[in-house]
Amino acid sequence: MANPAATPGPGRFDRQLGVEGFGSDGQKKLGCATALVAGIGGVGGTAALYLAAAGVGRLVLCHPGVAEEPDLNRQVLLRADQLGQPRVFNAAQAISERYPDVEVVALDEPVSGPSVAGWTNRCDVALDCRHNFAERLELNRLCWEAGVPLVEAAMDGAWGYVTVLSPGRTPCLRCWAGEGDPAWAPLGFPVLGVAAGTIGCLAAAEAIKVASGWGRPLEGAMLTIDLDDMSTSKLSLASDPECRVCGPVARAESGVAAQDLVVRT
Ligand SMILES: [Zn+2]
Repeated sequence: MANPAATPGPGRFDRQLGVEGFGSDGQKKLGCATALVAGIGGVGGTAALYLAAAGVGRLVLCHPGVAEEPDLNRQVLLRADQLGQPRVFNAAQAISERYPDVEVVALDEPVSGPSVAGWTNRCDVALDCRHNFAERLELNRLCWEAGVPLVEAAMDGAWGYVTVLSPGRTPCLRCWAGEGDPAWAPLGFPVLGVAAGTIGCLAAAEAIKVASGWGRPLEGAMLTIDLDDMSTSKLSLASDPECRVCGPVARAESGVAAQDLVVRT
């Protein structure tokens, strides 16, 4: 698979080909890459849009259910006349209309659905933008089994975070999130649309790094940002030696050597 528009030369990628360290090599790698985006809400929809704009070869979008009116303060791929329709298909169409060179696969199903595991095995990077820990932890497990880097992004109100979880190189989601935060409301938590968009862009930036080889992915550390006062922090993430996804037992079963589990902060 290749993205024809990713061929170096005059075209819509001219302005990013000049970014130091990115260049034609990064563009070629990005154009041959598949990114799976779980959750096409305010964070994932923004991330998918910017990945397409940057010239990723293939997007696999995963999100069950229909769009509702409160979604429109942040889900910029959707239109008001599409309420009540499955959002993932309309989001995919919106991206395809803007960037027809990008292959878009739309899955109207949760991470536990029948198609996601197969696509996880075929992708180069996955982005976790779901609103519940059950699906986040399932995607974490699938990515560890497939050896696929996972960009983990979330937000609440005006605050959000992003980190890159890489099998064999960093802790996994379960190491520091356990079974999830029971304080997370399943739906209806406050969302400032620009906060979702900001976190979505940061997640897309990390996915572009992973897919293209450009830059230094945010592995082993979590960037947080609060738009209320624009404060930021960078936190180190620690591995849980008892973790059943990436701990010693899981690594022995998967064949990943213990010495490969290096936490970079
Ligand atoms: Zn773990």
